[in-house]
Amino acid sequence: MELITEKEFFGMANNGEKQHWDKEVDVVVVGYGAAGGISAITAHDAGAQVLLIEKMPHPGGISILSGGGVAFAHNAEGAFQYLKRTCNGTTPDDILRKMAEEMVGMIDWVTELAKVSGTEPSKTETRGHGTYPFPGTNDIDSIKLKDFQAYSEFPWAKGLRGGARLFKVVYDNVNARKIEVLLSTPAKHLITGSQGEVLGLSAEHDGKVTAIKAKKGVILACGGYENDEAMKLQYFQAQPVYPVYLGNTGDGIKMAQKAGAGLWHMWHFHGGYGFKYPELPFAIRHVWAGPRNEKRRMIWIAVDRFGKRFMDEYPPAPQDTGTRALEFYDADIQDYPRIPCYLIFDEEGRKLGPIGIPIVNDERYDAKWSEDNFAEINKGWIKKGNSLEEIAGQIDVNPKVLKATVERWNSLCDGGEDKDHRRPPKTMMPIANAPFYVVEAWPIVNNTQGGPEHDAKQRVLDPMKNPIPRLYVAGEISSIYGHLYLEAGNITECFIAGKIAGSHAAQQLPWD
Ligand SMILES: Cc1cc2nc3c(=O)[nH]c(=O)nc-3n(C[C@H](O)[C@H](O)[C@H](O)COP(=O)(O)OP(=O)(O)OC[C@H]3O[C@@H](n4cnc5c(N)ncnc54)[C@H](O)[C@@H]3O)c2cc1C
Repeated sequence: MELITEKEFFGMANNGEKQHWDKEVDVVVVGYGAAGGISAITAHDAGAQVLLIEKMPHPGGISILSGGGVAFAHNAEGAFQYLKRTCNGTTPDDILRKMAEEMVGMIDWVTELAKVSGTEPSKTETRGHGTYPFPGTNDIDSIKLKDFQAYSEFPWAKGLRGGARLFKVVYDNVNARKIEVLLSTPAKHLITGSQGEVLGLSAEHDGKVTAIKAKKGVILACGGYENDEAMKLQYFQAQPVYPVYLGNTGDGIKMAQKAGAGLWHMWHFHGGYGFKYPELPFAIRHVWAGPRNEKRRMIWIAVDRFGKRFMDEYPPAPQDTGTRALEFYDADIQDYPRIPCYLIFDEEGRKLGPIGIPIVNDERYDAKWSEDNFAEINKGWIKKGNSLEEIAGQIDVNPKVLKATVERWNSLCDGGEDKDHRRPPKTMMPIANAPFYVVEAWPIVNNTQGGPEHDAKQRVLDPMKNPIPRLYVAGEISSIYGHLYLEAGNITECFIAGKIAGSHAAQQLPWD
């Protein structure tokens, strides 16, 4: 973001009534991921003339890279109880109730939208319950779309195929409505009126600054701040935390703050531990993604810089809370002893398939992980040793300590119970057959959850809880999740928040 004001741009900051406008529509939606796409579709269907602008040369954001899991509810009261417990007081009840009610209709709505793309949700539900054993857990579940040719449409995006399928449905619906889309058009500043109301925004397009009038409202759906180092430094406990997607740099959060927004949930992010190498600017996730499959063996244990185990490597939501144990700061050594941590596995584990899965929505980069992990061993990303002592030498850990850690682990595997960190029995496997391997692991962020606080109509609130007129948010720019994430709940939130923001913005009377 450039640190210049509208005043410098246009000479009339906070006096947008006199602004010269290059373009004019009813509703401007910023960011073309799932939340932006759904906001645009809904505002259009409610009769508004909509412009959808996207900073990157391609649409999709993180949404196109995701697993495409969509949470739904069998019953609104149960879903509300579950959301209330997982949000743990960080989000007002009326917002959670609205979300729970809308979750009941998710399958029907996705089914309707998916007709345009010739697909439908798979009848197979993911697991039959929520991640945690809280009240209402049996009232929620998630679905994915049936496989169809979605991926070939987005050759620049390489990720989990479910996300491409889901985004294709959003994309096809935007195209079917002929909604105007401007790519490579980053929003820069909100333009406000004398009462603080949002009248439009400035964006960069074709190398020029363009002032776009939004007669009814602006919906910020431009993601979180996973690739903004300064914000992560301020809001996250762990340092560093590497992003999966590069396009989300907190632009919308900063724009909303400048317009007077209060913030919530800033500490919370959806992330696990994974791999990071200087050759690539983004992190690589490990393959134990999504809801925990308690029957699937996980090949490694994680040790800290002293060679000791410190966590259940396979927590209930490996790609959500997986990062939390790494955040520990040791005041005695004035450092983070688990950043990086080290994943240790053996030859049996290596043979079980690739340990990493690169996920990229950026045409500048390509990344692959070999099926047998040999390419990564040859590159030095994974280090190999004929003995545990050799492995200890490679990570500068006391060999006796590392050996004792592995022996303890193997004895726990023999007994079929992780008495130290409660890892599920069927995920355990011993580390016994040379050669041995070690790989550095870092905290990684899939998406942030915090941003401008909003009400049940998705209106952005100032710190005194008053709505900022004509300013809305949808999606991960300002998620309701402020404690534990509802798995598959971010995409669902993109849909529900986008629907609420889009229809509410479209109903406003034009300010001119
Ligand atoms: C690997 C992975 C798997 C996941 N799996 C799931 C899952 O199965 N289910 C689930 O619910 N969630 C999942 N998530 C999380 C989920 O994908 C995201 O939270 C969600 O897609 C965010 O959608 P969004 O529309 O808010 O943001 P995005 O999809 O990131 O879209 C935001 C867009 O805004 C653009 N933008 C940024 N700044 C500007 C600007 N200044 N001007 C214009 N445009 C801008 C960005 O380039 C981007 O295209 C997963 C995440 C990852 C990384």
